[in-house]
Amino acid sequence: AKEAGRSNYKFFSEEMLSEVTIRTEMEADLRKALERGEFRLYYQPCIRMSDGKVIGMEALIRWFHQKKGLISPAEFIPIAEETGLIKQIGRWVLEEACRQSRTWQEQGPYGIPIAVNVSKIQLEDEDFVTDLASLLEVAGIDPRYLQIEITESCIIKSIEVSVEKLREIRKMGIHILLDDFGTGYSSLYYLQNLPIDVVKIDKSFVDSIAVKARNTLIIDDIISIAHKSEMTVIAEGVETEDQFNYLMDEDCDAMQGYYRCKPLPREEVEKWISHYLK
Ligand code: C2E
Ligand code: CA
Ligand code: CA
Ligand code: CA
Repeated sequence: AKEAGRSNYKFFSEEMLSEVTIRTEMEADLRKALERGEFRLYYQPCIRMSDGKVIGMEALIRWFHQKKGLISPAEFIPIAEETGLIKQIGRWVLEEACRQSRTWQEQGPYGIPIAVNVSKIQLEDEDFVTDLASLLEVAGIDPRYLQIEITESCIIKSIEVSVEKLREIRKMGIHILLDDFGTGYSSLYYLQNLPIDVVKIDKSFVDSIAVKARNTLIIDDIISIAHKSEMTVIAEGVETEDQFNYLMDEDCDAMQGYYRCKPLPREEVEKWISHYLK
């Protein structure tokens, strides 16, 4: 029994060791990824339900690792957050999105804002608001063409500080989108008191439309409360016609999802939209 115990222990520790090695490797690679230019932004259109107009593009980061190929943000963003590397990566994302926005405002497709996902660690940074202002100035774009997406976890830690910051950002003319709504701790009541412009209903609720689960009730409530507070509602991860029709009936304002278009690299999303506009 003693021996078996020992070998179990050995097995366990080796597995842990290899996990640590993989993590350490990814950290080291993440540090180099920026210099090596391995990040790209993909863009997913956001479409207004009433007339099918493209009212925005969400920027989603992709990491093309020189050896491992494409790595999903779900895999590396958490590590970037733990190591603090998200500050540099997040800054690159904002700069790149501003450059892209400038190009689109000059060459078309015109009038489409880009929404950037912002980590709670970026928002916590004292200089975040002034950095944003100078980024816009350097890029020479109208603030309405840059939007930021935050999650409830961005706000939870210190409500007063984050609400104050969000107010300042809004004052600059940047719209704020609340991402993944419904997955966090906040109630619908809490939603009414936040300085945000748009609520994005999390995909998990949209998924439940197909199976007609109780969750669809929550969708109705989110939409009506958001509308009462003069917020716009976007449903994310819409994949089927049934989901689309349901959301249309419930007066949802806009949608994103494979049903219309998946996230695409710049050149492809430009092609997609030029066909779409015909
Ligand atoms: P998110 O912000 O909630 O983004 C939506 C995710 O759903 C994206 O995954 C998108 O590709 C995917 N998606 C869109 N439509 C559909 C659909 O119809 N069906 C399905 N199954 N999926 C759909 P992605 O691009 O892998 O990004 C995952 C998460 O990584 C994002 O979730 C966001 O939290 C984070 N992320 C992505 N880019 C950035 C970034 O630049 N900065 C930060 N801080 N986080 C980012
Ligand atoms: Ca998002
Ligand atoms: Ca989301
Ligand atoms: Ca999500």
